Amino acid sequence: MTALLEVEDLRVAYGKIEAVKGISFSVEAGEAVTLIGTNGAGKTTTLRTLSGLLKPLAGKITFDGAPLNGVPAHKIVERGLAHSPEGRRLFPRLTIAENLQLGAFLRKDTAGIDADIQRVYDLFPILGERRKQASGTLSGGEQQMLAMGRALMSRPKLLMLDEPSMGLSPIMMQKIMETIRELRSQGTTILLVEQNAQAALSLADQGHVMEIGRIVLSGSGPSLLHDESVRKAYLGED
Ligand code: ATP
Repeated sequence: MTALLEVEDLRVAYGKIEAVKGISFSVEAGEAVTLIGTNGAGKTTTLRTLSGLLKPLAGKITFDGAPLNGVPAHKIVERGLAHSPEGRRLFPRLTIAENLQLGAFLRKDTAGIDADIQRVYDLFPILGERRKQASGTLSGGEQQMLAMGRALMSRPKLLMLDEPSMGLSPIMMQKIMETIRELRSQGTTILLVEQNAQAALSLADQGHVMEIGRIVLSGSGPSLLHDESVRKAYLGED
């Protein structure tokens, strides 16, 4: 089976500093894959490169059977790769409903867009209740829900989530992780970047541990969750 996303020997640099030093991994359709690792490991850089926001130094990216190298960011969204970025990047003065509409900016099927907005409200009822509220006034957890909802509005083949649990209370984090699990069980393919290794590995089919620009360990979610070195380094056990 060919993978939905195939990353081969990807290298990305900021000037002379190489942040991603030759990583390879793939994501099969229907699976949830996570990249974990500490600050500065290169996880965000990897997602930004896949989205076309950064240009790779070297390496090959293949998505849905065709190369992504050199494809502009808006075309990448059109091809079916959506990104819910670190820090959420919502339009704070616009309402929830308007932010969701913007997530569908490439689409013209009004009825389908309305149905998908409703689907986001079903997934996150609080967003439906507050649909006319400016997104800048939402709590961190609500903003994260909206960022995920907005990414879903492009009906992606692959949904990339950058640190959805960042800054959230344990209860809110649990809610977000449950929703990711639900999306996965509905058939959405997910690439999840997380510092919360426990949460990410608990729901992932495959995981990759990144350290200073390299993948140092790969395995199934459960096997990494039980791996002694992962438990020591990332799950706070001695
Ligand atoms: P975090 O969870 O803190 O975002 P990360 O694993 O996502 O960590 P990246 O944000 O990809 O890591 O950063 C990888 C390396 O690239 C770090 O050393 C970082 O300082 C560097 N870096 C990131 N963005 C830039 C930039 N715009 N200019 C220069 N260096 C950068």
